Amino acid sequence: MPHVITQSCCSDASCVYACPVNCIHPTPDEPDFLSAEMLYIDPKTCVDCGACTSACPVDAIKPHTKIDASEKVFLTLSEDFYREPRKYPILAKPVPRLEVSTPDRLRVAIVGSGPAAMYAADEILTIPGATVNMFERLPKPYGLARFGVAPDHKRTRQVSQQFDDIAARSGFQLYTGIEIGKHLTQAELLAHHHAVIYAVGASADRPLDVPGMGMPGTTSATDFVAWYNGHPDFKDREFDLSHNRAIVIGNGNVALDVARILTIDPARLAYSPIATQALDALHDSKIEEVVVVGRRGAANAAFTVPELVGLCSTGGIDVSVRADELDGSGTKVDLLKNLPRIGTGTSKIEFRFWKTPVRILGGETVSGVEFSNTQTGELEQIPAGLVLTSIGYQGRPVQDLPFDETRGVVPNEDGRVSAGTYVTGWIKRGPSGFIGTNKSCAQETVRALVDDFNNGRLRAPGTRTRDLTARIGRLRRDAR
Ligand code: NAP
Repeated sequence: MPHVITQSCCSDASCVYACPVNCIHPTPDEPDFLSAEMLYIDPKTCVDCGACTSACPVDAIKPHTKIDASEKVFLTLSEDFYREPRKYPILAKPVPRLEVSTPDRLRVAIVGSGPAAMYAADEILTIPGATVNMFERLPKPYGLARFGVAPDHKRTRQVSQQFDDIAARSGFQLYTGIEIGKHLTQAELLAHHHAVIYAVGASADRPLDVPGMGMPGTTSATDFVAWYNGHPDFKDREFDLSHNRAIVIGNGNVALDVARILTIDPARLAYSPIATQALDALHDSKIEEVVVVGRRGAANAAFTVPELVGLCSTGGIDVSVRADELDGSGTKVDLLKNLPRIGTGTSKIEFRFWKTPVRILGGETVSGVEFSNTQTGELEQIPAGLVLTSIGYQGRPVQDLPFDETRGVVPNEDGRVSAGTYVTGWIKRGPSGFIGTNKSCAQETVRALVDDFNNGRLRAPGTRTRDLTARIGRLRRDAR
């Protein structure tokens, strides 16, 4: 009776370490971990002990007898993942414990408090006597786990409970409302700690460079996400929801989130953590249809299968695709070929493929987008009163650190920028992967840091912990 991993899989691999029979793959050591859309339980070797269900921070794992009809695809995906011949071997190398070979107590500053930061803290706090001071610019912690996950993705949001547990551990201190580069410098952090880890994410959205962008009615999906999640920098933003059609350019998981939030019955969000002003605006919204436009075919769409399954099973929304745009093969194509019959929903999401934006149409405000067919060059205009670009996040330069403008990351080797300075998460590897992908990413960075610590490459802090507390106390008094 196997267990099955379902839509909200966060890929943090806690289940991998909990499983006594190594039947969950890919593990963080395996070559396909970073490219995998989720983790899979081998139905043939699962002993049904349930250890993975308690380890999973997002309640994604169920016994196969408890999955509903829309989740059956996950059992099939698991069977397919283990079907031989496999492209990559199944390895089950256990990750060795971190060993510290010096009597010094490691003191680390972490900048940022999102998933990458919290997983790094979790790892450091496994070292006896180690302490972590975490610095967050915003008044509330957890970054994209709070301000990026859609409010109706309740199980994914549960990962915050795991972060609460980490934050409650002895040796951990969080300072909110402190911006590094403005209130404290990198040099000050290094004076108070052996090392600094930057886990600052990719806070900008990738700009779309076509004529008309910036016209009223155009915006980025990342701003819209931050707004409906109550991000303090975006709470006063206004979005024109008075037209009946919106276009989302790009078809990654963020595009699916915004398309779903724009079309879902707002009553279903009433008891979610959505921002009140966003819920009010969605109640008054006239949007009935969202067109999600991708520049490649369905087989190569950027959304993942679990998120497509979740979208298609959201009640009240008709999901459709044009048969003449649906080619290629694979699970995404199969799911889109077998969409439920439309006509039962009160709103609609249409996937369009093979279209790249050429220009934004309109004058004082947006009236639509002109696309070019990426196979034939044929132009097509799609009318809409709101255009959201969802073409990815982008890292910003970090004061005092080198920056790779092309990739939008801080250049690093396994997380090490230089002895004493490290990066983890999206600022280290670029904006891809899921919340849990940051766990193995943070493990790699912390291992590089501990290696430097053990080999005497880190300078001991020149101050005591209470000097830092006093400095932050002065900052807070000055801010009042
Ligand atoms: P993404 O997955 O990188 O998707 C970006 C989309 O924009 C792709 O469709 C891409 O097309 C398109 N694009 C890029 N440049 C373009 C251009 N100049 N013109 C037209 N289209 C362009 O980014 P994302 O959706 O922002 O997601 C970021 C990461 O967060 C992903 O790893 C995602 O899985 C993760 N995330 C996960 C969840 C979840 O699991 N629930 C939710 C939100 C985000 P091409 O594919 O052709 O490049």
